[in-house]
Amino acid sequence: MMRAMTRPDATVFQTWLTQTCATLGAAVGVAVLLHAGAAAAAKLDVNFTGAHIPTSLQMATTSTPATVKVLTWQGADIDGDGAPDFVNPTGKAPRQHDAYGYGAFGASRDGGSRPHEGVDYMVDAGQDVVAPVSGFVTKIGFAYADDARLKFIEITNPAIGYVARVFYVDPSVEVGDTLRLGQVIGRAHGLEAKYPGGMTDHVHLELIAPNQARIDATRMLAERYVTRLAT
Ligand SMILES: [Zn+2]
Repeated sequence: MMRAMTRPDATVFQTWLTQTCATLGAAVGVAVLLHAGAAAAAKLDVNFTGAHIPTSLQMATTSTPATVKVLTWQGADIDGDGAPDFVNPTGKAPRQHDAYGYGAFGASRDGGSRPHEGVDYMVDAGQDVVAPVSGFVTKIGFAYADDARLKFIEITNPAIGYVARVFYVDPSVEVGDTLRLGQVIGRAHGLEAKYPGGMTDHVHLELIAPNQARIDATRMLAERYVTRLAT
C-alpha cells in the first residue's frame, strides 16, 4: 500500500519539478529577451532622436503658434514695494460716450455745472466687482439720497493714504472688513432703472489722494495688451 502510494507521488513530484524548472527557465529566457529588446529599442530611439529632422508641417506648427492679444490692467506701485497698489474693479475699459455723456474723469455733468469726479468702468450687471485698493471698508452709503437701490462702498488704505469709493455695487462686505487688493466686494447693480434709455452699465470709481483731492483713476490703472498662447 505504501509503495503503491509513494511511487506515483514521487513520479508526479519529479514531473512537476521538471515542468516548473522548464517554465521558470523559459520565463527567465523571455525576460532576458525582453530586456535586451527594450535596451535595443531604447538605443534605437536615441539614435532616431539624434537624427530627427522636423517635417515641414512640424516646423510650421512650432514657428507660428496661435496667439491672442488680451487686454489687462497694470496697477501703479506707489509705495515702491514692487507690487501694484491698484486693481481695475471690473476688468473692463472705461465707459465711452453714451446717451448720458462720457465716463472719463472731468467729463461734463449737469449741463456743465460740475465735472465728473470719477472714472466709469464698464461692467455687466450682476458681475463680481473687486476692491481697487486693499484696506478697510470705512463706509457703505447711498449714491443718491432719494434712491436706496444704488450703493457705494468706501475703502480706506492708511498705508498709502488713498481712499477708493466704488459706486453702483450691491455689497457682499460690511463696514470694518479688511480687504485684500482685488477681493470681491459685491455685484454690479444695473443702471437701466435709474437711467433708462441707454446708459452703459458701469461702476463709478472715485480715488481720493492723500491731499484729499479726487484724482483720475486712469493715472493708477494703465491699459496693457499681453500676448498669450491661444487656448
Ligand atoms: Zn461716474
